[in-house]
Amino acid sequence: MSEKSVCDYCHSELPMSEKRVTVYRKRHGQVYVLENVLARVCQTCGERYFAAEVVQAMEKMITGPAIPTRTMTVPVIAFAG
Ligand SMILES: [Zn+2]
Repeated sequence: MSEKSVCDYCHSELPMSEKRVTVYRKRHGQVYVLENVLARVCQTCGERYFAAEVVQAMEKMITGPAIPTRTMTVPVIAFAG
């Protein structure tokens, strides 16, 4: 896991907190929800950073024959305004 200490977005130097987060990825019109993903989260702006191996593992889960834990229906609403 990379030891990133300065946030690229807000340049905060507060130590990042390690958290398990939910990641939404879209691929070929299909939305994948990955739960329990290890991330480092900026305490100031909330930006999430993933280690290279975590990103690779997520890609494998989406492209590979991973068996979903469960399937859910997602409402899609176009912004009208
Ligand atoms: Zn930040």
